[in-house]
Amino acid sequence: ELGAGALPVEFDHVTFAYPGGGNVLSDVSFLLPPGRQLGVVGRTGCGKSTLIRLLFRFHDPDKGAVRLAGHDTRTLRLTSLRGRVALVTQEVHILSGTLRDNLTLFDPSVDDRRVLRALDEVGLTPWYETLPEGLDTPLGGAGTGLSAGQAQLVALVRAWVRDPGLVLLDEFSSRLDPHSEQLLHSALRRFLSGRTAVIVAHRLQTLREVDQVLVLGESGPLEYGPREDL
Ligand code: ATP
Ligand code: MG
Repeated sequence: ELGAGALPVEFDHVTFAYPGGGNVLSDVSFLLPPGRQLGVVGRTGCGKSTLIRLLFRFHDPDKGAVRLAGHDTRTLRLTSLRGRVALVTQEVHILSGTLRDNLTLFDPSVDDRRVLRALDEVGLTPWYETLPEGLDTPLGGAGTGLSAGQAQLVALVRAWVRDPGLVLLDEFSSRLDPHSEQLLHSALRRFLSGRTAVIVAHRLQTLREVDQVLVLGESGPLEYGPREDL
């Protein structure tokens, strides 16, 4: 099972196709040391989100292996994997429950101080202070009371309180205005420090901080290397 701390990630000759389709990923390999950040770029439809989904084990490779800390992901319990890996995407599902439930995902072992600290990190404290019931404020089924940008920040808080060893970000900051995006980027820098991350972004600004870049092509890979070489 996966221990604490940043997780090394390995794609070892990974090939993947959706049922009935051609290969989306063809022989993709990279090794991401613990605590390093990989940016994934490439045209629409080239398989960036698919690569992220393999890491969260929504799919398994047809050939090759995905490894976390040396373990083939197929050998890990899903709860163990998802307890150490945080997936943050544009689609944020606000659950019906309190703000606390939404931030802790109903995990009672997460204490309020940790939640409040994470809210502060992403700049949500001023909003939080307007809530009459604080963390007990009910959030409605359809995400009542949260703007799209705030919902994205909530998603980041959710990831933060779980202290993940691998963070997966897929087109994350796209719904924020420039000021909020600036705040988010400084929060992200603090959040990602000391964690392994795989980051998909259209905007280069999001990739300012990454160590490595993987360029996916339409018919397979790719370029892979340190950011400054590409
Ligand atoms: P974008 O930049 O638009 O987000 P992407 O690089 O993330 O694109 P993917 O979402 O990984 O691309 O999709 C890669 C290919 O796989 C596309 O051709 C897409 O149509 C196809 N695809 C994605 N999801 C599925 C699915 N659930 N079933 C079948 N095909 C899919
Ligand atoms: Mg995508």
